Amino acid sequence: MPACKMAEVESSGFISSSDNQSEKSDTDEKQIALLDDKTVLKGKKPEKVDHMADMARAYSSIISHVGEDVNRQGLLKTPERAAKAMMYFTNGYELQLDQILNEAVFDEDHDEMVIVKDIEMFSLCEHHLVPFLGKVHIGYLPNKKVLGLSKLARIVEMFSRRLQVQERLTKQIATAMVQAVQPTGVAVVIEASHMCMVMRGVQKINATTTTACMLGVFRDDPKTREEFLNLINKR
Ligand SMILES: [Zn+2]
Repeated sequence: MPACKMAEVESSGFISSSDNQSEKSDTDEKQIALLDDKTVLKGKKPEKVDHMADMARAYSSIISHVGEDVNRQGLLKTPERAAKAMMYFTNGYELQLDQILNEAVFDEDHDEMVIVKDIEMFSLCEHHLVPFLGKVHIGYLPNKKVLGLSKLARIVEMFSRRLQVQERLTKQIATAMVQAVQPTGVAVVIEASHMCMVMRGVQKINATTTTACMLGVFRDDPKTREEFLNLINKR
């Protein structure tokens, strides 16, 4: 089972764009409305509109290149819809770990293993831009701090809604857990099915890929690791 190193935590770098965060606030909308036209052109909203139009044009080109008629009724709105869907599938870039953790890290003297298993995960393979999906199991051994349980699923979302490879996704979730609560150890296992394998190439419908990242005590102590693996395999 591959283990990744604690030392890599610092260099992992959580990609996020703080720019997009403010767009949702009401105050910002009002401020944009108050500005003159010139300033508005430099603002984020119009940029985002342009960028959706660019994406829709790109999808339109793809649709015609596969041999379809872009003017066929069923496809008329497809480029815009596809652009919106792609933005949704990749909205993890807009999330930041601090925001997710907001008021959900608690001081607690609990030092037994915490496991959340079967967290649903949907991501896009960065090599083919097709989905890979499956389940994430996260275990950690708290060190005076625990994280609200629902936040584990939010961390999974933050990293899975990006262009990904399963190995990196596994490691990013584990390092985010370290950043969040500095536990004695973290274990992350992902079992996923890749549409790029299922729908093309080898076409193995039931093939699943399992990746694991063990940090701290889960890496160093075979007993802890085994306990975790036994618990996640119990159905
Ligand atoms: Zn792929």
